Amino acid sequence: MTAGITNVYVHAPFCARRCCYCDFAVQVDRSPDGRRWLDVIRREFESMRDSGEAPLAEVLDTLYVGGGTPSLLDARHIAALADLIGRGRMRSPGFEWTVEANPESFTGEVARQWKAGGANRVSLGLQSFDPRALRWMGRLHSPGQARSAVQEARAAGLANVSVDLIFGLPDGVSRSWREDIERALDLGVPHISLYGLTVEKGTNLCRAVSQGRARMPADRRYREEYLFAAEALADAGYDHYEVSNFALPGFASRHNRACWTGASYLGLGNGAHSYHAGRRWWNERDWGTYAERVERSGNARGGTEALTPEQSCLERVWLALRTADGIDAADLGPGVSPVVHDWMSRGLARQTGVRTRLTPAGWLLLDDLTLELEAVLDRR
Ligand code: SF4
Repeated sequence: MTAGITNVYVHAPFCARRCCYCDFAVQVDRSPDGRRWLDVIRREFESMRDSGEAPLAEVLDTLYVGGGTPSLLDARHIAALADLIGRGRMRSPGFEWTVEANPESFTGEVARQWKAGGANRVSLGLQSFDPRALRWMGRLHSPGQARSAVQEARAAGLANVSVDLIFGLPDGVSRSWREDIERALDLGVPHISLYGLTVEKGTNLCRAVSQGRARMPADRRYREEYLFAAEALADAGYDHYEVSNFALPGFASRHNRACWTGASYLGLGNGAHSYHAGRRWWNERDWGTYAERVERSGNARGGTEALTPEQSCLERVWLALRTADGIDAADLGPGVSPVVHDWMSRGLARQTGVRTRLTPAGWLLLDDLTLELEAVLDRR
């Protein structure tokens, strides 16, 4: 018998404006209808529950509300997710409920309502402390609002705060990455995520790059910024526990860890993905189409796939290589050791006991290194 799902993701797709690089499942709307959003999420949740397709465990490990900008919704609608999912499911001692927020809409009142509802972790999209860089991205907050948001979270008893920063901005977007890292450290938050900017099709950034109005940085600067941050955060006591994530002891994200270790998760909302019992499925991406389909029939499935054993194995390897836990090369059978030794000789990996973990330099080449392993596994 397959155990019940212990991790739930809920997507809140609304943003006041679309950032220049963003290709997420976002609905641009400055004052979204939170009541309808909650009703649709409830309908999808009840329909999943009744179908028995994705049985939830009696006690959850994590709930993650991502976006979009969840803080744009009336805070009571976020807090109401506790009743929808079931407060009894949130009683495990280490239960983690994260909600994402943007500083301009994360007020003290929002923080208090989320905390009262049961949320215990906030992930803030800060991205930079440089006002020009923030404007270039299309962000709506100021550096001062970023600092206030952290204070409001703490004042409401939400001390478990994570902040996101973006590196690898185009040439000519003048910002000091070093200063951004120092300011993030000054906040004293227990968790920091760093994301390298990528050019996604259909975004304003993509158009700017293809029309020559923006030039992405050379690999060298991208690499230098990542390695500089990895070293600075490690020196400050943060554990670099995953390619993009750094945490003070005891503050690694449980939700992300669950996904990286192949645990089941249920995704609700437009564009949300789910994984359970070797099967992955995902929802219609467009908010309007998703909402209408759920209102009509209870679900808005966009697609589904069953993973073959080979796909599952590769995915496990790729996910494990993302983390500081790494892989046990012996588990993967013959032919893998020479590859791993080669990585170590190039400074891309190191051995801790039986585990091989990538170094920050190795994480920069994560996809290439996974392909090297895949080639070995394919030949067998
Ligand atoms: S706030 Fe986040 S989700 Fe919304 S447009 Fe910007 S990057 Fe995308």
